[in-house]
Amino acid sequence: MYDYDFFVIGAGSGGVRSSRMAATYGAKVGLCEDYRVGGTCVIRGCVPKKLFVYASEYSAHFSDAAGFGWSEADHKFDWPALIAAKDKEIDRLNGLYIQNLENHYVEIIQARGKLLDAHTVELTSAEGRRTITAGKILIATGGWPQMPDIPGIEHAITSNEAFHLPVLPKKLAVVGGGYIAVEFAGIFNGMGVETHLLYRGEQILRGFDREIADKLNEEMSKKNIDVRVQTNVTEIIKSDDGLSLTLTDGSTLLVDCVMFATGRLPNSKNMGLEDLGVEMTPNGAIIIDENYKSSVDNIFAVGDVTGKIQLTPVAIKEGAALAATQFNDTPTLVDYENIATAVFSQPSIGTVGMSEEEATRKFGQDIQVFRSEYKSMKFTLSGRPERSLMKMIIQKSTDKVIGAHIIGPDSAEIIQGIAIALKCGATKAQFDSTVAVHPSSAEEFVLMK
Ligand code: FAD
Ligand code: NDP
Repeated sequence: MYDYDFFVIGAGSGGVRSSRMAATYGAKVGLCEDYRVGGTCVIRGCVPKKLFVYASEYSAHFSDAAGFGWSEADHKFDWPALIAAKDKEIDRLNGLYIQNLENHYVEIIQARGKLLDAHTVELTSAEGRRTITAGKILIATGGWPQMPDIPGIEHAITSNEAFHLPVLPKKLAVVGGGYIAVEFAGIFNGMGVETHLLYRGEQILRGFDREIADKLNEEMSKKNIDVRVQTNVTEIIKSDDGLSLTLTDGSTLLVDCVMFATGRLPNSKNMGLEDLGVEMTPNGAIIIDENYKSSVDNIFAVGDVTGKIQLTPVAIKEGAALAATQFNDTPTLVDYENIATAVFSQPSIGTVGMSEEEATRKFGQDIQVFRSEYKSMKFTLSGRPERSLMKMIIQKSTDKVIGAHIIGPDSAEIIQGIAIALKCGATKAQFDSTVAVHPSSAEEFVLMK
């Protein structure tokens, strides 16, 4: 007899959903967390990031307003006020998550978990150490920022620290070209920080539709973000003047703050996994089967720690599927086809399905690309020089829409509905027969000729 039917290590997106669902199905569930319930997404990811995006967008909204007859006012931005408001909201959400778990009789233990054997977890907290046993154990410990091992890297911050900077920097460099880099470059730039984006590759957002990535680079540059591709940092030297970044072209860049957004690694170290024979990839991702089972029978893993798609809704779906399969006698598989995603850059991006490059690789000449580039109606009077781009990729032989991409205002909101259409296997003819919502940007998706 074990202490728990199900014990979850990590109260993030995947762990919280899995433990709550398993408890709903009648399992006795325990959950340990060594930082704060809510995990990366709620505490130092999606939620505070989106609040920062909203905050940073006001500078552009204020100048847009003049074109609509509003007179200019003296708008001042108060960084500590934003941090305090954001922290209050995160505390509220953290409280709601705790309450929701407790309402479902999930026992929350504030401690760091480590596996001693296949059924025993050692819990370490300020109060000391103890062990518990469980029939099934879920590792949902997420990921952690990785930074390159260059001289002076100890002076750099990651997104974790960006949420708590005591002072807003005047000059900042973001290193990387992925989601976090482009999102935070937009955030800091919108808050009036002189912002440099340094990316080692040919174009930011590698793997996204290339034209969309090109467009983002162009639009960020229009907003005075200094986007430098094929540029990396080789050393950081701290002095009284700030941080001097040595760049790959031999030049230097002086900033107050440098943030590395160079990817995240699975959080699987020092958890006793190697000793137990839980198989992992060289970078520490737990290898799982389609039912999230690791190489050890009763040990499972979901979310970022599996090193697959690092998105909150994916971790949530995986946690729910695992609980249904293991505790409700309902074998459930997650469908990874056509997962829509948004990048909260400025302008934002929404994307689902294949990029033009991927579609060409897969279907060769059997594709047709529809594109529409336009100025949002709002920017006609405001005078903002920003332009939007929408693309649809069609497989010619089936007329199916196999990719949809948008960069422009409200992209995240628009792409969610388009993702349902792709999931249903919609054809271009069906998009064309859909009556437009006018006037909107979204209507472009049913008007592309
Ligand atoms: P996590 O949410 O990371 O949770 C893991 C938890 O385990 C953490 O609370 C951690 O403290 C705890 N833990 C770790 N080790 C132990 C241990 N040994 N014992 C006890 N507890 C432990 N995704 C989106 O879909 N949309 C977005 O807009 C978005 N924005 C993001 C912005 C940023 C800055 C970042 C960093 C990520 C963002 N993500 C976004 C990704 C998203 O946050 C993750 O994919 C998601 O949180 C993964 O959930 P998870 O359950 O796997 O892990
Ligand atoms: P990403 O994997 O998206 O991007 C990492 C970037 O860092 C890439 O541009 C990569 O370059 C670059 N890089 C990696 N190693 C180095 C290095 N040694 N030196 C210089 N550059 C390097 O990771 P992020 O950290 O941006 O985000 C992690 C994940 O979190 C994302 O992949 C995403 O799944 C999730 N997330 C989702 C968000 C959303 O849904 N809106 C928002 C934020 C995060 P290269 O391309 O050349 O490999």
